[in-house]
Amino acid sequence: SGKRSERAAMAEEGAASRPPPDVDTDECLREYRHLFSPDILAGQVAFITGGGSGIGFRIAEIFMRHGCRTVIASRNLQRVLEASKKLVAATGQQCLPLCMDVRQPQTIVAAVDEALKEFKRIDILVNGAAGNFLCPASALSFNAFKTVIDIDTIGTFNTSKVLFEKYFRDHGGVIVNITATLSYRGQALQVHAGSAKAAIDAMTRHLAVEWGPNKIRVNSLAPGPIAGTEGYRRLGGRFAEESSHFDVIPLQRAGNKTEIAHSTLYLASCLSSYVTGTTLVVDGGSWLTSANNFPAMLGIASSSAK
Ligand code: NAP
Repeated sequence: SGKRSERAAMAEEGAASRPPPDVDTDECLREYRHLFSPDILAGQVAFITGGGSGIGFRIAEIFMRHGCRTVIASRNLQRVLEASKKLVAATGQQCLPLCMDVRQPQTIVAAVDEALKEFKRIDILVNGAAGNFLCPASALSFNAFKTVIDIDTIGTFNTSKVLFEKYFRDHGGVIVNITATLSYRGQALQVHAGSAKAAIDAMTRHLAVEWGPNKIRVNSLAPGPIAGTEGYRRLGGRFAEESSHFDVIPLQRAGNKTEIAHSTLYLASCLSSYVTGTTLVVDGGSWLTSANNFPAMLGIASSSAK
């Protein structure tokens, strides 16, 4: 038995920072081992903006694997329709795909009405919808800056407010805003997204204070570079991988979508019942050490635009 416990101890070495398996495409996981209790979200309903792709898709999948029904909402109906088929097939849970633009409050109202008609409740809102690209401030059009603020910041407010009025005010709820670490050190070529996400982190604290008495928790989750996403492809993730840029990240690698989904599950569930108004950074320590070199970033931007 001494040998067995020795083997068990060896098997566990480094396990606390080992990534769970993931797939780089917008497909469901081929295998999944529960780390949290499989029924931690049983009976609940989550409304996930941007749930048809990337990080939002994986959040929907992991929530569904924990007993949750989901609504996935974004502009492209075809995208959410196809995503919902995959999610239902992999998890056996219900998923309602809806078309909605976070910049247009009347489309959010219609989507939330539809979701409540179908499920009679919404427990969790994940604000994941966003747009981003690399661009120096000098080349950014007035309209481009405004569009990112419109989608990320104002879209997060619009959706949170509609959910508050339609359901959370009277029943309580949880909001998780997906933000970023871009503004922490003034990341080059990211003034638009960094400003937009910093404003969401502020909104998180304001809403946590105002809506706490209604039993609504509001938190942000700030991912670092996450492989297998549109964000990663557009922001030069592959390039960084090749140039051994990841050596400087404390955990020496990019994160994966399942890791973000697990941290979102923590924030959305009763595991974090006393956590509100905070930002959980899930980036392998990356913002502390990664290069923020303006000329080098310009090189990445021009090569990934090709
Ligand atoms: P993604 O797949 O492009 O996800 C963005 C989603 O937002 C898409 O499903 C898109 O769907 C939706 N969307 C965009 N504009 C919308 C609008 N006006 N109304 C409704 N939905 C809209 O990108 P991702 O990389 O997985 O990013 C997901 C989240 O994580 C974002 O908030 C991003 O800022 C954040 N993040 C990502 C990384 C990373 O490494 N990937 C790092 C830090 C933060 P439609 O086109 O159908 O509308």
